[in-house]
Amino acid sequence: MNLAVIGSTGSIGKQTLEIVRKFPEQYSVTALCARKDWETLLGQILTFKPQTAAVADEKSYEELKKNIPSGINTKIICGNDSSALIAGEAQYDLAVISTVGISGLNPVINALARGKQIALATKEALVAAGKIVMNLAREKNITIRPIDSEHSAILQCIRNEKKYLEKIILTSSGGPFRGKKNLSGITKEQVLAHPTWKMGNKITVDSATLMNKGFEVIEAAFLFEAQPSQIEVVVHPQSIIHSLVEFYDGSVLAQLSPPDMRLAIQYALSMPHRIPNKWSTLNLAQIGTLTFENPDTATFPCLNYAYEALRIGKTMPAAINGANEEAVNAFLDDEIEFTQIPVIIETVLQKHNLLDENSLDNILEADSESRRIAREEINKNRVK
Ligand code: MN
Repeated sequence: MNLAVIGSTGSIGKQTLEIVRKFPEQYSVTALCARKDWETLLGQILTFKPQTAAVADEKSYEELKKNIPSGINTKIICGNDSSALIAGEAQYDLAVISTVGISGLNPVINALARGKQIALATKEALVAAGKIVMNLAREKNITIRPIDSEHSAILQCIRNEKKYLEKIILTSSGGPFRGKKNLSGITKEQVLAHPTWKMGNKITVDSATLMNKGFEVIEAAFLFEAQPSQIEVVVHPQSIIHSLVEFYDGSVLAQLSPPDMRLAIQYALSMPHRIPNKWSTLNLAQIGTLTFENPDTATFPCLNYAYEALRIGKTMPAAINGANEEAVNAFLDDEIEFTQIPVIIETVLQKHNLLDENSLDNILEADSESRRIAREEINKNRVK
């Protein structure tokens, strides 16, 4: 199977390539795509010799061109739309899409429009434009392969019994501040030290605010055609059970494995089949105890905002996604405090003008409008 890895220098992209290296018989790489980390991309080009590689940032493109050895036949392209171009034109069987934020949306649409398989880590594409993406996937008869441990778990539990689905129970680690009631004065370093998952910066901040879990609720609603009332979140700090599914008869199935994203990525590549485990397996006696508690939505209101956006529907999920992306970037740039992230999102929720969600133009309009409102709030509250 030929893979296009869009977002190849990020955490999910690197782990995908690790899997390709362990299973050279099953997988090869025909296209790679990065934003600006040209040094990592160069190493990947030398290892996997793809037909095409893309880098969004122009300076990084110049560096890459300068440093690439002669004799490498990979065609290198550049530009902000290069990931969408790769998805729309490169040769591949399956696109792994793992860019950060709304930038994943055009590659998803272009890949699906060609009837290509996609393994999706960029949940923001589904949050912002779930209806458009799912309609396109259905039209092309494509099952989107989630690279999100929870949704991979749900898919594995649900298999051929979707018609009996009563409830989806999403598990959450609770993030690094589980149990805390006062989040003021929290530093970036504290936020970026996640207890169970090693991930990119944006998703790590989202995990700390529980917005990541909120987005996963929206993601699950679209992927599995579930109502907001059918989706529950339970905090499970050990991150061993990746999610559960309850059927009409009250029977509950769960999927368990060590908290290792390679297992979810591997299943996304191999599904509906399974390939051998080359990583780690579960030792329950060693883990000893699995615990569960309700999420603390008073301290972490972002989870409720996501439910609210999902219930309101239309372009509200796109707006909450845009606002969150803007607020998280501002926090990562030391412009605002951690506790201001939910405040900014709530303001955008109140001010957003709802549009019909079936048009991509409306989604992009909601995205930029919500960023504009978020930006105003950030400028009012900035600490530097
Ligand atoms: Mn997840």
